[in-house]
Order: sequence, then structure tokens, then C-alpha cells
Amino acid sequence: MKQPMLNIKNIETYYDRILALKGISLSIENGSVTAVLGNNGAGKTTILQTVIGLLDDQPEKGSIFFQGRDITGKETVDIVKMGIGYVPEGREVFQELSVLENLMAGGYMHNSASAKETIEKVYRYFPVLKERQKQMAGTLSGGEQQMLAISRALMNRPQLLFLDEPSLGLSPLLVDQLFDIIHQIAKDGLTVLLVEQNANKALAIADYGYILENGRFVASGTVEQLKRDEDVQEFYLGIK
Ligand code: ATP
Repeated sequence: MKQPMLNIKNIETYYDRILALKGISLSIENGSVTAVLGNNGAGKTTILQTVIGLLDDQPEKGSIFFQGRDITGKETVDIVKMGIGYVPEGREVFQELSVLENLMAGGYMHNSASAKETIEKVYRYFPVLKERQKQMAGTLSGGEQQMLAISRALMNRPQLLFLDEPSLGLSPLLVDQLFDIIHQIAKDGLTVLLVEQNANKALAIADYGYILENGRFVASGTVEQLKRDEDVQEFYLGIK
């Protein structure tokens, strides 16, 4: 069997004494889009932050392997260098810097020639950012800031991209446009882990889905399997 790109085994994560992830296992296949779906507070962000080492405490139990290497409890900077990109919920671009400066900051690990090449690539995905490259990021619309946040993460040329609620606060039209581009980026070879409350949108571009409730996965499978499962549709996706 092929080695998964990311393999999370039985993770337990606490905030102080509160158990937020209650034994999470998840495997991401190379070249796939995997969606983790769940309501507010289910623990979606906690999964991403546990993997990328952003929480104060290491996971209490379990292990995380990226491309076969154990990254459990490693520093965020090392994990990012190994090839995981992270776009946090709420975008968090540098408001006072221009679009171009944000991108250059995202590409700090590469020399300027290779950063320029990557900038041209992200401009092909998001032409509006090229038009606005000298504009301060804080003056962009919410959708454009989300595009910039994704582009900044792409500047490190990750192999795996984490997206935390990219649809949050965007109009339906913008969500459609953004998800089309995410889909295209994935088709071009990037492996994606997408965390979303917007199940319909996420499943439209995903290959695999996991449904999270109160710190546990209650269902998982290929998107086709999840769509065929009436209980999943009715109880977790609210589609019926
Ligand atoms: P959202 O969409 O609201 O971000 P989520 O599914 O990403 O939801 P998490 O943010 O991972 O959920 O939160 C999971 C649980 O952990 C929630 O009960 C939340 O209240 C709790 N939690 C999250 N961050 C902290 C923290 N810093 N300290 C204590 N509890 C926290």
C-alpha cells in the first residue's frame, strides 16, 4: 500500500483539562482533497493546530506522520519547512503590507528568483491579486484577503495545504469562485486538507470526507460513500 502523505493516529488533545480531540485518526492520500466537516466547536481547528504544532501542549496521546516522518510535537517552523502550508481561519494577512509584500514574506524560505516565479504562478490562479499587488492588504475585500492568505501559504511551495474555513464570511458567489480555484490548485497536484462548516461546498471538491462531532469522527469515507449514506445525509450534513 502507498504511504499516506499525512497519517494521524489516535490523537488526544487537551486544552488544560478539557479533552478536545478524543482519539482522532485520519489518513490523507497523496494528491487528494480531504474535507473535515463539523459544526462550530467540533474540534476542526484543533486538529489542524495539533498537527502543525501551534498549541501550547503536545498531543497527550497518538502520533502524526508526514511523508513517513514522525512530526508529533515538532516545532511549527520545522513542520512548515517540511512542506505543510497553513491558512488559518480569519485569513490573518499582514494588513499594513501590500499584496506583493505579503507574498514576499510568505516566500522567505526561497531566493528571490524562485519567489518571483512562485508569485507569477499564484497570480495565474488569482489574477485580481496581480491587479492589486501594490495595494495594502487591509484594504482588500474579504474574498481577496482569503485569496491572498492562500497565495501566501503557496509561496512556500507546500506539498500539503491546510485550509481552515476558507468560506467563512464570504458571499455565495465568492465562495463558488474560491472553491473553483482551490479545486484547480488541487488538480494541479497539491494535496489539500480542508476544514469546513459548509459541507456542500467542501464535498463538491473533496475526494474523502470525515465528519467530526464533539472531538470524534462519527463517519468517514469517500465522498460517494458519504453521499450514499442516508444517516450521514440526514443527521450530520442536514441535507435531507
Ligand atoms: P470553529 O469553527 O468555531 O473554529 P472548530 O470545530 O474549529 O470550531 P475548535 O476551535 O477546534 O472547533 O474547538 C474545539 C473545542 O475546544 C471547543 O469546545 C472549544 O471551545 C475548545 N477550545 C478551542 N480553543 C480553546 C482554547 N484555546 N482553550 C480552551 N478551549 C478551547
